[in-house]
Parts: sequence; structure tokens; C-alpha cells
Amino acid sequence: MRMLPPIDEMYDALLRRDDAYEGLFYFCVRTTGIFCRPTCSARKPKRKNVIFVPNVEEAFARGYRPCKVCRPLESAGQIPAWAAPLFELAESVNGKRIVDQDIRNAGIEPTRARRFFKQRYGMTFHAFCRAERLGKAMAGIQNGTSIEGAVLDGGYQSASGFREAFARLFGTPPAKSRELECLRTEILESPLGPMLAVAGDGGLCLLEFLDRRAIESQCAVLQRLFNAGVAPGEHRYLIQIQEELSEYFAGSRTEFDVPLDLRGTPFQLKVWKKLLKIPHGKTTSYARLAQQTGNPQARRAVGRANGQNRLAILVPCHRVVRSDGNLCGYGGGLWRKQWLIDHERQHC
Ligand SMILES: [Zn+2]
Repeated sequence: MRMLPPIDEMYDALLRRDDAYEGLFYFCVRTTGIFCRPTCSARKPKRKNVIFVPNVEEAFARGYRPCKVCRPLESAGQIPAWAAPLFELAESVNGKRIVDQDIRNAGIEPTRARRFFKQRYGMTFHAFCRAERLGKAMAGIQNGTSIEGAVLDGGYQSASGFREAFARLFGTPPAKSRELECLRTEILESPLGPMLAVAGDGGLCLLEFLDRRAIESQCAVLQRLFNAGVAPGEHRYLIQIQEELSEYFAGSRTEFDVPLDLRGTPFQLKVWKKLLKIPHGKTTSYARLAQQTGNPQARRAVGRANGQNRLAILVPCHRVVRSDGNLCGYGGGLWRKQWLIDHERQHC
């Protein structure tokens, strides 16, 4: 393991934006979930909110995201020269889906690109591009930017490119969905990355990490179950969940009060309600959960229902591990599951 300079020295270096420390450390900011280079020009965080790490891998492993101002991923030596065209490609495609041939045309073998993103960021190249783009565009719409403006900010070449991406998630293009009675959606920031939240008057119906591969199918299921349009916008439950999540991540909340609108098969509902009974800071096993549903043979079906949960963190499917204590799977990525379990054990 690489040694870090003394903390006083590092904090002093970041206050002075000392470029002699470039590459020696990165700092993560608890309050924003962002990590930076020592020379970042953004507002300086309070010392108690800073965590120092030796490299970007550790910042990612702790659930922090790269700063848009100082772009820590692009600092010297962090991105190997061969991979640089991948980031240029991600910037340049403007919402079009990147296919293997595009990666080959950039002079890179697609399997190598895939391995690189998986190892470095724990997600696919496509998921990385999709999360970044959609997050930017949705944030624009919520801040009152016109769709055209949001399209430009999000790196989409045209409004139709954005509408297609939105339609892939929600089926209804924004222009139309504004006129419908519909569910409201918003991107929430979290220390583990941006999350997509959807709410209706019955309660919160989706909370999921934006880079999750299954998010598109989750949204399709949601529309079918609720038979409603989804559009970016305000809703009292979205405001409430943002507040409660901040408290949860700060360690001051162990239970959520926001109403949940759970819909699914009777078996799914049974499993999800059992999940809701697992206390904060505790874990249980698939086998025990199967027993509680009255059918010890149903371990697999329980695992499946667990994976179909649409309310990450709130319906705590991350509290289910294998009988031997092995973490097993998690839709949002194992590193998030580990993070949530550790966090809850620390604050209960
Ligand atoms: Zn920064």
C-alpha cells in the first residue's frame, strides 16, 4: 500500500492548490460525494469533511465520483495513453449508442476496453456514458432549462436523441408526458453515485442507481404496473426522500418515513415486506428469508424477488447475504452493498 503524506500537509496543499502534490493524493468530500485533485479550483471543503486517498481506485471504492471541475480521471498517469480515445469517444458521440466498431475505429480492441472499465470503474463503458449523459440532461430539465438547453448540456446532438434516451427509460417523450397525469422523476445525488427516483401520489415507486444496467427494464415494468407517464418534475415525496436519504448517508437516520408504493406479484410483495423487517445494521440470509415465506425450497425465487426490488436502500435487499456470510449479488454492484452494510453497522 502506498503511503500518504501527513494529513496536515495534505490539507495545507489543497488550500494552496500546490501542484507539487499532483498525483500524490486525491481528496474526497463527504458532503458532496465528489473527489478532486489537490489543485482543484472549486470551493475548498472543511477539513472534517475531507478524506484523503492515494489513488482514484480507492476514491471509487469508497463510493465517490470524479469532480467535473478538476477532472481527476484525466490527471497524468491515471488514464493510460491507449485508453484516452475511449474518453474522447464518450464525449463525441452525443447520445448515439457506441458499438464495438466505433471502439475499433478508435484503435482499441473492444474486449480490452470492456475489461478496463469494469476493473477501473466497476461498470461497463455503456453504463458509464449513459449515466453521465442522462444525469446531466435530466438535471437541466429540473433546473428549468428548456429541453433544447438540457440536450446541449447533456451532450446530446439533438432533442430527438434525448427524447429517444428518455423514451428508452420511460416510454413517453417529455413533450407529451407534460400533458399527462403522471409520475414524477428526479435525479438525486448520493455518496454512492446519482440515483433515479420516481414518485406518485401513492408514494415512492422507484429508487435506483442510475448506472445500473437493469434500470431501463425496471422503468418499463414500472410504467406497465402503474399505467402512467413519467416526467421530470417536483413532487412532495421526491423532496422528502432527498432529505431522508441525506440524513441516512450522514448516519442520523436508520428508518425511512416516506410512503412506498409497492406493486408486484403476491410472492414479490411477501418477500419485499420481509425485507422491510430486517433492522438497520443487521443482515439475514436467503435461506432464512425463504423459511419465513413458508417455503424453505424457495431460496432461488426469494433471490429473484430480491433482485426485482425497485426501491434500493429503502427496501433493504442489500441486507441479504449468503448463509456463509458471503455478500453474493447486488444489482447496484457489490462495492455498494459492502458500503451500505458497513455504513449501517457504524451508525446503528
Ligand atoms: Zn475538483
